[in-house]
Amino acid sequence: MGPMGRTGPSSPDLDWRQATALKIIDKLYYYQLPKKRQPPNAKVSVYAAQCGECFKWREIPTQEEFEDIRSRFIEDPFFCNKKANVSCDDPADIEYDATRIWAIDRPNLPKTPPGFQRELVLRRDFSKMDTYYVTPSGRKEKALSGIASFLEANPEYQGISVSDFSFTTPKLMSDTIPDYVERKVSGSGNKKMKALRQGDDDV
Ligand SMILES: [Zn+2]
Repeated sequence: MGPMGRTGPSSPDLDWRQATALKIIDKLYYYQLPKKRQPPNAKVSVYAAQCGECFKWREIPTQEEFEDIRSRFIEDPFFCNKKANVSCDDPADIEYDATRIWAIDRPNLPKTPPGFQRELVLRRDFSKMDTYYVTPSGRKEKALSGIASFLEANPEYQGISVSDFSFTTPKLMSDTIPDYVERKVSGSGNKKMKALRQGDDDV
């Protein structure tokens, strides 16, 4: 493990080019719903990682693979050639733009232990995402104390410790949040973000 192994996950403002992998929520999802009820507990629909060489984004097919890459991202950064039959010469799988809502994950979060499921949900006001774990008994835990109680009550999981869990949430990229949400959340708006988004729309 490199010297950054300890400091990386706690640094608050990672540059997104260096930041690890990320999660994306498909924007289309919101448009299909009645406006008054948007959004329900929207979840991640696409995982992607950015190449440390060419900076292109590559889709990562499963959450498990994504978590695997993320769990050792600092000492073992992602490159295009880690995907089978892909090189930096190939076009990007997806582009960072406002056609989806993007959220950037912290590097080196622990990989979810077998039997558990880690979920991220977007708050209805789009202010942030929340993390929870579904335990093997099907219960949603929203804090380490709940995980600790579960592990204590279920000795068959004694190989697993609370340090295998993290409730750290990804950074929601505000320049990829739909226009109508911004109007609803705040009257003040953010001119810089608006300008960025218009730029994206022109592409
Ligand atoms: Zn590349």
